[in-house]
Amino acid sequence: MSDLDFDLFVIGAGSGGVRAARMAAGFGARVAIAEDRYMGGTCVNVGCVPKKLYVYASEYGKSFTDAQGFGWSSGEKRFDWATLRDNKKTEISRLNAIYRRLLDGVDATIIDGRARLIDAKTVAVGDKHYTARKILIATGGWPYKPDFPGNELAVTSNEVFDLDEFPKRLLVIGGGYIAVEFAGIFNGLGSQVTQLYRGPLFLRGFDSDIRAHAAQEIRKTGVDLRMETNITGLERSSGGLIASLTDGSRIEVDAVLCAAGRRPHLEGLGLEKTAVKLTSHGTIEINDEFQTAEPNIYALGDVTGGMELTPVALAEGMAFARREFGGLNKIVDYDFIPTAVFSQPNIGTVGFTEGEAQMEFGEITLYKSTFRPMKHTISGRDEKTFMKLIVEDATDRVVGVHMMGPDAGEIIQGIAIALKAGATKATFDSTIGIHPTAAEEFVTMREPWGDD
Ligand code: NDP
Repeated sequence: MSDLDFDLFVIGAGSGGVRAARMAAGFGARVAIAEDRYMGGTCVNVGCVPKKLYVYASEYGKSFTDAQGFGWSSGEKRFDWATLRDNKKTEISRLNAIYRRLLDGVDATIIDGRARLIDAKTVAVGDKHYTARKILIATGGWPYKPDFPGNELAVTSNEVFDLDEFPKRLLVIGGGYIAVEFAGIFNGLGSQVTQLYRGPLFLRGFDSDIRAHAAQEIRKTGVDLRMETNITGLERSSGGLIASLTDGSRIEVDAVLCAAGRRPHLEGLGLEKTAVKLTSHGTIEINDEFQTAEPNIYALGDVTGGMELTPVALAEGMAFARREFGGLNKIVDYDFIPTAVFSQPNIGTVGFTEGEAQMEFGEITLYKSTFRPMKHTISGRDEKTFMKLIVEDATDRVVGVHMMGPDAGEIIQGIAIALKAGATKATFDSTIGIHPTAAEEFVTMREPWGDD
């Protein structure tokens, strides 16, 4: 029996930390987990979960209008922000309690408070010190606010869910996941939304056709999407906030959301008391086994860089616990990780973009399809779905699938299994479609793009 307090001390009860703690405890380890904010971390409290609830809320506005083409009519539609916000709070509290119960259920010791490293085997929370054989840093990320005068008047994704007042006019800074999702949410809820992106085309890193299609469709929904534009300053005005922009214009809004990326959450962690090293991006440097330069300190999830996605952190937490406490040598397979942007309509993507595939495989064949979703033939909504397959010529393997359209996230999850299994275009072609669905288009695209 070790004379240390715990076998594992986890810092941060987010997706990766909780999963690692629960599994390690399940393998019989004596586990402690410290959290100073809220159980479940970003995903549960100010990320994926409340975001998806707000996406559902924001879709109703358009659905009421769509329904008229199908013969429905109802009274005047009205949206109440406080109802949504407070119902969301109730649901998140329920989830916080479930997380706590799950940890209690495996006899993990939950320590409410901010943890800091004292040395390679000691963690302090408040004035108490705890020793552990292994320490896991799973502190995640934190929203980054660009440096401009008045930036303290802007909010981030940490605050935007709980605004006291609904912003009738919202300015969104950024062109990544969070910016695009919130521009869609507030636009759908009835805000007048302006979104600024500093480069020529937003959603950098996504397939070029998806980026162009997304710009077209998002503009159609009413978001004032401005590329090559950024904020230079923000000040209070009698009517709200005035933002100055790089094109010299000024715009009055009720709130500004900075969605300019996230940084590893390391403040006050005490890394300087250990040999833990950082990468050039400021994330914690780890090897394939999640081990830092300090051999008994490990790190995983957003704090280590990589794909900042809950399912990735969960997979890493499981692999870590299995390896360190279960004697199972499991690694995380980072190939073909599917992802979705819950824009309106959704973007779903898995595998290589066209540009990446060209670099990786040389000769590729593309299949593309753009069509009006069946529902909107009667609803009258002006929205187009886009789908794209990328095939490696040498092997016929499908190496990239991209979609923007209703339920793209749901559809691409299934397609990702096919890609991981090495499906070829011939496999796609021999798969019978489900009719009538949008997804069947993926198994009926016969003509390569560019061929007559
Ligand atoms: P992203 O990195 O996706 O996007 C950041 C955006 O901010 C980019 O458009 C970037 O522009 C822009 N930006 C960066 N610095 C500045 C600046 N100084 N001024 C103006 N614009 C700037 O970060 P997010 O915050 O959107 O999300 C963080 C991560 O969280 C995502 O990468 C994703 O992994 C994860 N996430 C996943 C979701 C999902 O799965 N649905 C939902 C939300 C988040 P540029 O492209 O020029 O660098």
